[in-house]
Amino acid sequence: MNISTLKVTDSRANQIDANNIQFGRTYSDHMLIADYEDGHWKQPQIVPYGDISMSPATSFIHYGQSIFEGIKAYKNAQGNISIFRPKDNWERFNVSAERMAMPHVPEDIFIDGMKHLITLDKDWVPTSDGCSLYIRPFMFATDEFIGVKPAEKFRFMIITSPAGAYYSKPTRIYVQKQYIRAFPGGIGFTKAAGNYGACMLPSLQTKQMGYDQILWVDGLEHKYVQEIGTMNVFFKLGDKVITPDLEAGTILAGVTRASVMELLRDKGITVEERPLSIDEIVAAHEKGELREAFGTGTAAVIAPIAELNYEGNMIHLPAEETWEVSSWLKKELADIRYGRKVDTKNWMYKIC
Ligand SMILES: *Cc1c(COP(=O)(O)O)cnc(C)c1O
Repeated sequence: MNISTLKVTDSRANQIDANNIQFGRTYSDHMLIADYEDGHWKQPQIVPYGDISMSPATSFIHYGQSIFEGIKAYKNAQGNISIFRPKDNWERFNVSAERMAMPHVPEDIFIDGMKHLITLDKDWVPTSDGCSLYIRPFMFATDEFIGVKPAEKFRFMIITSPAGAYYSKPTRIYVQKQYIRAFPGGIGFTKAAGNYGACMLPSLQTKQMGYDQILWVDGLEHKYVQEIGTMNVFFKLGDKVITPDLEAGTILAGVTRASVMELLRDKGITVEERPLSIDEIVAAHEKGELREAFGTGTAAVIAPIAELNYEGNMIHLPAEETWEVSSWLKKELADIRYGRKVDTKNWMYKIC
């Protein structure tokens, strides 16, 4: 794929303070843009990062045909840069695109475009442990038309932002029954903008009550756990690790989730993907078998849960120091990402 490139004259990369990176506030020198029109993708362009202008009638603003991805690139001790499993994100992006009646983005735009962009902005990948370059691919409908219909014109873009080491202190979780994140037949399995918009109010109210995140349950019986906040969720009950299955289409198929399951199974730990009810978690807790609980996602990687508020009943998890699985997972993933361990699974996509 031929990508036309317009470079900045002065890089801003030397302005990053590696010890004080605020997530999502600073963007690297360049961004990628590709437009879709008349049934095909035009040549992608890499240009200096900056504002884009559009008509106020641009359709995604009104009707939300808009999807995104979140991926990270890491620099190892030798200075080589690799992206963690970007093809899985590319495939998932196209699953989201299909559900939202948007065109597939071909591999040479999504993956090769990302490779070009990050090679050009390689000085933006922070070196210190725990740091990374967060990559945000996204696509939105660009028809200048406020009639309600699936759009015909789209724009795909990639922007990147340095991310600091993310320490997730054990979170306090509120089990949400009043609001529902996703129903069967809906768009819970996609990374669509609207999924996030709908969660802002419940999330705000939960914070006002003094909790960090919501544990979402299913909308039909209000008892099966789905996700926490915008992360997948795992519970260790006795010796087994359990995470909700993806059957109902209400849960996002996390790349971290898949990686965690694979690592655990390789280690000989039983992982069950199946419906998991709050009642089962409460019962396990009463028997002293609720050992660990954590969220997984690209941003936090592993986010330990300290307590759950389920209809006013507090479930306190054992002290994090006693946790075995999640701390091992965290280290294992970091070792693979920073090249301290041989990447036997070919998860790291080498850039330069
Ligand atoms: C992105 C996302 C996740 C985590 O997926 P990863 O691929 O692991 O980053 C989980 N749940 C929701 C709702 C998400 O949007």
